[in-house]
Amino acid sequence: MTREIKHHLTDELLLAYATGDLPEAFNLVVATHVSLCDECRARLEAFEAVGGAVLDEIGEATLSGGSFAATMGSIRAAGKTPIVPATPPRRTGLFPAPLRDYVGGDLDAVRWRGLGGGVRQAILPTSREAKVRLLYIPAGAALPDHGHSGLEMTQVLQGAFGDDGIRFGPGDIEIATEDTHHTPVAEEGVDCICLAATDAPLKFKALLPRMAQPFLRI
Ligand code: ZN
Ligand code: ZN
Repeated sequence: MTREIKHHLTDELLLAYATGDLPEAFNLVVATHVSLCDECRARLEAFEAVGGAVLDEIGEATLSGGSFAATMGSIRAAGKTPIVPATPPRRTGLFPAPLRDYVGGDLDAVRWRGLGGGVRQAILPTSREAKVRLLYIPAGAALPDHGHSGLEMTQVLQGAFGDDGIRFGPGDIEIATEDTHHTPVAEEGVDCICLAATDAPLKFKALLPRMAQPFLRI
């Protein structure tokens, strides 16, 4: 699947994930994408390697609070480093391992709720800063109207959808902000299954630049 992926995670999101400070709902979507995508997994591992090397070379003592090293140090002390699969998991079903853990199984274990028009959703239990849900959109149907007050990440697991002339197929991730105005429509043929996370706007928007900036200056 990985070579067909055209739409990836941003560096900012990978960095925020590497620090273990994304809301749980986004963590799950990032972990799901990274499990499916060799390219993003390699970028994530590179960021983590750079973080470790900088820590070794400079040492925490020479850097003041708010620095990269202090950030990494406090994250490690808090035991927040996320578990990232180092190698692609063996695929026996539709869901990669991180998602399977949340669902408690594969597609047949999902407890769907109808939203009308054949569209179904299943909200997965996470911390409250952000929400993540599985969406089932019959082929040819439009995605349900979903909130756009902040960041939204939509990971395609099966099928495809089109959004403003751009196709998002299996493995692709769409990252939308509150500026994005869109009406995604599932492609004809195969029913579309996505994992979509949305946040409470202020919390994440403030967090992301704060976490990403120290890294990006390296
Ligand atoms: Zn990717
Ligand atoms: Zn959207």
